Amino acid sequence: MRSIRNDEQDIEYRQGRRALASHDPTRALRLLRSAVDACPASDRTELSHRLYWLSIALRRLGKDGLAIKALASAQRLTPRGRARDMYERVANGYGMPRAACTEHDDYRAFCSIQIRRYLEGVPDRRFENQHEIDAVLTMIADAWLKLGTAMALATSSCDEKLRVFKNAGIEYPALRERRETRQGAVIPADFVRGKALQPDDRCTCGSGLPYRMCCGRVRLPYEYERG
Ligand SMILES: [Zn+2]
Repeated sequence: MRSIRNDEQDIEYRQGRRALASHDPTRALRLLRSAVDACPASDRTELSHRLYWLSIALRRLGKDGLAIKALASAQRLTPRGRARDMYERVANGYGMPRAACTEHDDYRAFCSIQIRRYLEGVPDRRFENQHEIDAVLTMIADAWLKLGTAMALATSSCDEKLRVFKNAGIEYPALRERRETRQGAVIPADFVRGKALQPDDRCTCGSGLPYRMCCGRVRLPYEYERG
């Protein structure tokens, strides 16, 4: 496997780790990102290591959302490695960066789901300006407060809470022209067992984690912007 990677990229990987050791996460991030890009996808173990170190650089720079994204990919590649240990430490039950308390974890998951849903319905899938962001966030916060009863009925399992979050549809007034919603929405399915995948089901990628924490994790809205 070693021969597929070129030496220059191996040097960047080593330099990236050295930059981390000498407390230069900005330089480390640049080097490690390029080392990850250069690693062939077939070299799973090596790619997992590089993503792991990339996630550490991202965390040091306060980019927790992107760090989780890198860790989630790393732990899927090597389910029994240190990437998995780290992922389980920093991710909450929704597969998002762990917040200070459960309520905060819940609200962030709810907010992320609702923002994504809103953006799916607008032409370019982006907010046009700050006014639009403010209006949408206010409506989401209102909906969260109204959810109080439903939340009290749900047990503490993330699986049940996710069901409540996803069922809570918010009627957004026409802030601007909307396109057809729910078009091309993909329902995650376990084709082997022939049914829709539930959040608590083992993920089909083989990671051994529940779907909600793995491939079905709740992504932060800005994770989509980088593509
Ligand atoms: Zn998965």
